Amino acid sequence: MHIVHTIPELRAALAGRGRPAFVPTMGNLHAGHIALVRQAKPLGDVQVTSIFVNRLQFLPHEDFDSYPRTLQADCEQLQAVGCDIVFAPKESDLYPQPQTFKVQPDPQLADILEGHFRPGFFTGVCTVVMKLFAAVFGTTGGGSAVFGKKDYQQLLVLRRMVEQFALPITIVGAEIERAEGGLALSSRNGYLSAEQRQQAQALSRALAALAQAARQGQAPLEQLEAQASAALNAQGWQTDYLTVRQRHNLLPPPQADLATAPLVALGAARLGSTRLIDNLEF
Ligand code: AMP
Repeated sequence: MHIVHTIPELRAALAGRGRPAFVPTMGNLHAGHIALVRQAKPLGDVQVTSIFVNRLQFLPHEDFDSYPRTLQADCEQLQAVGCDIVFAPKESDLYPQPQTFKVQPDPQLADILEGHFRPGFFTGVCTVVMKLFAAVFGTTGGGSAVFGKKDYQQLLVLRRMVEQFALPITIVGAEIERAEGGLALSSRNGYLSAEQRQQAQALSRALAALAQAARQGQAPLEQLEAQASAALNAQGWQTDYLTVRQRHNLLPPPQADLATAPLVALGAARLGSTRLIDNLEF
């Protein structure tokens, strides 16, 4: 396995290796990330994983400085799963000048849900992913990239970006890996105390209960969503949103479609200072 830090080193390592199957991450790898790498491997000739904590997608009060950076342990896991190239740029490698050109995503998709609570988040994500795509695929004629459904809205935003810029990249969505009890694996779970980790299982349960109530049309959707948030808040959470949306555009479904349409329940909530997200397709 090669570990490279700069774009020229990456391109040299990729030369003659064929089409990349790429997994972008912010590191501190867990079984969710490793599942993406496993899934990526057969999709290309050379598996590339990037590790980069992208300042552009954090708001000033968020956890950019404290985000766990564990490069050595990450590389050991990647080696074990058969990754070929780790691209771990420093900030000065990826952003040698201030990144004043940005990729501005469609506000209809990017200013709701996560984008509403984290303004500018998807601009930061799209900008870094476009740059990572240029680094990985710029000299290889395209390939595949795998993203987790854990970040459901991110997956949709990036699919639309690739479509609208006609990038020669196939985007693949991977299922969410969960711990026992249903908690979606996340690097941010490391911020939780043992007690909070137990409590955190309530988020996936709340989504499952909301999905079931919506499918059965137990009440108007807005009422079900408000009840779900109140129930989670009563268990010590501060909920940003718990909502049911249409899978393809993340807009609210017409009440008449609740029984049959492809839907997704999405949630974001804070336990203490840790903000977690999760979702459930149904
Ligand atoms: P991150 O390092 O948090 O930016 O995540 C990197 C990639 O891993 C993204 O595509 C995430 O959606 C994906 N990912 C993170 N957690 C999980 C999980 N529990 N299951 C599946 N994919 C995940």
